Formats: sequence, C-alpha cells, structure tokens
Amino acid sequence: MARQVKRACKYRFYPTSEQAAELSRTFGCVRLVYNKALEERTRAWYDEQRRISYAQSSAALTQWKKTAELAFLSEVSCVPLQQALRHLQMAFANFFAKRAAYPRFKSRKRSRASAEYTRSAFTWREGCLTLAKMTAPLDIRWSRPLPQGAEPSTVTVSRDGAGRWFVSLLCQDTIPAAPATENAVGVDAGITRLMALSTGEKIANPGHERRDRARLAKAQRELARKAPGSANRDKARRKVARVHARIADRRRDFLHKVSTRLVRENQTVVIEDLAVGNMLKNRSLARAISDAAWRELRSMLEYKCAWYGRELIVIDRWFPSTKLCGTCGTVRETLPLDVREWTCECGAVHDRDVNAARNLLAAGLAVSACGDGVRPQRGSSRTGRSSAKQETRRATAGVLRLQAEEEVKPGTE
Ligand SMILES: [Zn+2]
Repeated sequence: MARQVKRACKYRFYPTSEQAAELSRTFGCVRLVYNKALEERTRAWYDEQRRISYAQSSAALTQWKKTAELAFLSEVSCVPLQQALRHLQMAFANFFAKRAAYPRFKSRKRSRASAEYTRSAFTWREGCLTLAKMTAPLDIRWSRPLPQGAEPSTVTVSRDGAGRWFVSLLCQDTIPAAPATENAVGVDAGITRLMALSTGEKIANPGHERRDRARLAKAQRELARKAPGSANRDKARRKVARVHARIADRRRDFLHKVSTRLVRENQTVVIEDLAVGNMLKNRSLARAISDAAWRELRSMLEYKCAWYGRELIVIDRWFPSTKLCGTCGTVRETLPLDVREWTCECGAVHDRDVNAARNLLAAGLAVSACGDGVRPQRGSSRTGRSSAKQETRRATAGVLRLQAEEEVKPGTE
C-alpha cells in the first residue's frame, strides 16, 4: 500500500546580490531573536523558576520591534522570526522530555545560518518560488523533480560553511509500497568499516572516504597555522568548510543508497544505539566522521522504516553485542579493538563485527517477539544519565523500540 508522507526536497540555488543581502539580514535577525528569547527563558527559569511559553516569547518579540535598537527586526519578514521562536519552543520541549540537552545559543560562525518560511511568507506559482520581501523568484537548480503536483507547505533557506545556498521544500509525497518480506537484519557499526550485517556481509566505506579524510586533515592543519584574524585564516577556514561539505554530500548520497536497500530488503532492521558519551571520549577524526555517519544513517532508517511500514529496533548501547558469543552465550571479559577474529571456548570462530551484528539481530527479534504489549520507553534509555548504570546490569532488557508512524518529517538540518 502506498503511503502519504511529508518529504523535504533540498536544492541549491543562486541568489542575486539583493536576495543574498536580504537573506543574510534575515539569518542575522533569526539568530538574534532565537538567542534573545533563549536568554530570557533561561533568566526566567533561574531567577524565578518560571517557564516562558511560545505565546509570551512572541509577545516579547512584538515589544522588541518597538524599541529603537531592535526596530530593524521589522525590516525582514516576520515569519522566519516567529519560526525561530517555534524552534526554540521545540528545543525546550525536547529538553524537558529529556530527549535533548539544554538549548544552546546560535553562533554566527558555528551554527548553520537558516530561515524557515511558512505558506503565508512565500508564493509558489508554476514551479517559481518567491520569498516574502523579494520581488524575483529564487534561481533554483532542480537537480531532481519535485513530487508530482507538489505544493510546498514550508520552505527553509540556508547557507552552509562553504557559502553554498540551499532551499528545502517540504511537500506531500506518495511513497510506493516496498515488496513484502519477512527478512530481518542486524547491523553493527564500525569505525574503519562502515558496517557489518548479520548476513555476513560487510559494507565498506566508499573508496573516496579515506582520501577525503586525508584532505580534511591537511586543510585543518593549514588552518591551524594561520594567524588569528588574518585574511589567510579566513580563506583557510572556507577551504576546510568546502572539504567538509564535500565529504558530507558524498556520504549522504552513499548512506541514502545503503539505508534504502536495508529497508526495502528487510521487514525488521536492528541497530545499536550509540552513546553520545563514547563519542566525546574518542576525539579522533575518523571516529568523529564515522559517528556522524552512523547518526545520519539511523535517522534515515527511522524515517524510511516509517515510510515503508518496516520496523526499526534500536538496541540499548549497554548490550554486550561484541563480547557475547552468539553460539553459546558466553560473555567475554575483554575484546581489544584490534582483535578482528576470535575463538570462543565453545569452539565457535567469530568475525568480530558479524558476530556483533548477529547478536543485535537476536536481541532485536527477542524484543519483537514480546509482542506489541511490551514497549520499553524511548526517553529513559536514550539519554538518561542517571539510569545509565542500572542499564548496564539489565543489558538485554534495555532495548527500545521505534514504532513506525504514519507520517514523518525527515530532518533537514
Ligand atoms: Zn561460545
């Protein structure tokens, strides 16, 4: 059965100098409004233990526009500013639900510059997109067609660190049904190799990955040598951003292919929940890149499973998938990273990663067999720091499950 989903389609575009100036101004105002509202909410909470609602933030924005020093906020479209407040509201909702850390200030250098326009702030006529406060439509490069008869409901404009402009259009789309199957697969994430499957297959990082990493390391070394505040440093920084952007593009492309294949070929996909804490402990470049890839793959699997009516099971990070012998169930004390193959006391010879993938699959199917009545909570096993120790002890029990929803919006940021 085909499904109706909301899908974000992203394209590059080339603004005129007026459009670029208007958008840059809007990005600046969005950042200012977000940060100022965050500051006020933080102060209200710490000084008065009071929560500020979206409506109150919105009212405050109206007041800011009336002051002399913030009157310039009225010069840009008000919709992206309102949307920034909505995003902040969402960030706080995630924080209070323990799904995310406390919202952070947006930085001019580190944060991605973006502005979100809802239906009242753009016109869409025969494939021409014109934003509020602009007279000419955006010059969009349609690298692939929009879904048939698509009417964008939300438009997000952004500029990445490499200075490239993107527009993302959220549209209703029809997803064709995937072939019926009973297959299930466990997926183990690796550092040097992208992943191992319970079927015994290993999916390598694409060949360009290593060269890309070397190029990035070189660009970063060059950046580190440039004097702070110099024009050369600025140039070096843009160079690093360009390499980053290129890596991200190629990786996304590859991950799309892998995730689509996994979801189409299997009714159930079992993956491991990687810990944020672990990522911070190991700051190597290879590790950072593979973790980013893994997070991206997981979010693709989440929305594609929902699209195709498949099930994604996420196994708690404390499950000893690597050290557990899939044949006899013995858990080893240690298994150093460089041990790629090992023999258990029971005589079974294991490939480190394939064994882990098989253990993940077995744990996932055990959860799945518990039926719909058992659905461990998502929030606690995901980020709860205090519960982390308890969870070590009940390794297999701490499995969480993501149920396919009817409609999802893939993350565009
Ligand atoms: Zn064994």
